[in-house]
Order: sequence, then C-alpha cells, then structure tokens
Amino acid sequence: MRNLHDLEGHAAIVTGASSGLGAHFAKTLAAAGARVAIGARRVDRLEALAAEIEAADGRALPVALDVNDAGSIAEAVRIAEEELGPITILVNNAGVPSSSRALDMEEEEWDRVLDTNLKGAWLTAREVGRHMMKHGQGGRIINIASVLGITAAKRVLAYSASKLGMIALTRTMAVELADAGIRVNAIAPGYIVTELNHDFLHSKAGERIRARVPLGRFGEAEDLDGILLLLAGSGANYITGAVFTADGGLTLSAL
Ligand code: NDP
Repeated sequence: MRNLHDLEGHAAIVTGASSGLGAHFAKTLAAAGARVAIGARRVDRLEALAAEIEAADGRALPVALDVNDAGSIAEAVRIAEEELGPITILVNNAGVPSSSRALDMEEEEWDRVLDTNLKGAWLTAREVGRHMMKHGQGGRIINIASVLGITAAKRVLAYSASKLGMIALTRTMAVELADAGIRVNAIAPGYIVTELNHDFLHSKAGERIRARVPLGRFGEAEDLDGILLLLAGSGANYITGAVFTADGGLTLSAL
C-alpha cells in the first residue's frame, strides 16, 4: 500500500516556526520527507531549529518572516522557492494570544491580534496561493485555528474572532482554489502544552480546564502529528474546507 504520509519531493513553508507548535510541525514535515522553509521573526531560533532538523537528515531553511508585512512574506516565499523549489504545502501557524475582556480591551490589542492571526494568515495564503497557481502543481494549505474559534470563553475576544475568521478563510479559499487542485483545511487544537503556556496549564486555573477535558489531559504537540500529516499528504486528496478539532473532546460538552 502507498504511504499516505510520504512528503518526499514536497517543499513546505511553516509560519511561526521559531517556537511551540510551528517548530514541531516543521520537524514532523521534514521527518516525512518534505524540504521545509521555517519562518518567523526570531531568526536565531530558526537557525537552531534548522540545525536540529538537518542533524536528523532533514532539509530546513530559516527565512526571516513577519506576517504583518506583505513585503516580508513575498521575500520569504521567494527565497524559499529559490532554495527549495515550488512550495506545495503551507502551514499557516503564526499567532499571538489576547487576554482582555471585551469592555476592557484597547484597540491596539484588537488590531495586533487580528492583524497577526487573521490578516497575516490571509496575506501568507494569498502569496503562497498565487505561487501554487503559477506552478500548476496544486497544493495543500493548512490553517492553524483553535477551538476558541468554535466555542466561547472569557478574555479571548480578539483571539476568538481571529480564529473564527480563520475558519471562514479556510472555507472561502477552499472553494475558490479547488479548481487549481489546492486544498485548504484547518486544524482547531484544544489546549496543547507548549513552552509558552506550560506554566499556566499547570497552574490551578489550568487544572480546572484539564478537569473538563473528556480524555483527561492536555494535548502535546505530537498529538497533532496524525492530522497534520493527513492534511499535508495524499490521504486527504478528497478533503477540502474541513476543520479538524483536536481537543481531547473539550468542545463536546459545556457541562
Ligand atoms: P508560540 O507563542 O509558541 O508560537 C507562536 C509563533 O508565532 C512564534 O514562532 C512566533 O515567532 C510566531 N509569530 C508571532 N507573530 C508573528 C509575526 N508577526 N510574524 C511571524 N511569526 C510570528 O505559540 P503556540 O506554538 O502555542 O501557537 C502556535 C499557533 O497555534 C498559534 O496560531 C496559536 O493560536 C495556535 N494554537 C495553539 C494552541 C495551544 O494550546 N498551544 C491551541 C490552539 C491553537 P516570532 O515571535 O519569532 O516571530
């Protein structure tokens, strides 16, 4: 049987690859055989990650990238294609959190979060999508949304709005790009332990959330490997516009 997760011959770009899930996604794609451009603003961290991937016989290229800047995105994609060949996989992962209640939030927070998480994802998908169109080989765009784009919680309005918007971005681009063989899907993770949220998730407040997860634990980055490889690989050739929740069952019940 063919290996549905074999990404040999593919070139990918992962945004927000300098830490957390993005760094893990890059390692997973590289381990499956893809040549991976890793983008973010902290280039020193990208260089360390590239060295780690190459030490494991993968191919990784650090590219400076600020998703708030269309020029920076265009330059990153240009360099990535020059070095790695036509991009066939985009993981739109860069994102920032928000923490204010609706009535307390300053405009700056709304703009920063929506600009990075939603406008940045659209600008990146637009740039990579245009390249995919030009090359005519189809492609796979994977948007990293969140269960907070599906369900409600306090103090995350800007973040929730950005992630719900990302689901709309996924569905609309799936319809618009289907003719070109470009599949656009989203992953909506629940609470996944990364370097940044480790302390919060292991605090008392975190413990209250964990107690509501039917599978009884927070996720680890590795828990998203299966869905990432499914969407990046040929096993999902008939899947587009879908949103895959990976949350241990958290959103199944409000009780
Ligand atoms: P991290 O804070 O560890 O990673 C965020 C990444 O985004 C960093 O690499 C950061 O790199 C990058 N980034 C932020 N702003 C920009 C920008 N303007 N341009 C380019 N890159 C940028 O968070 P996580 O790994 O936890 O989150 C990754 C994604 O997964 C986010 O979209 C998040 O919303 C989503 N998610 C995470 C969940 C979790 O529980 N961890 C749950 C659901 C969704 P740099 O600062 O170097 O630019």
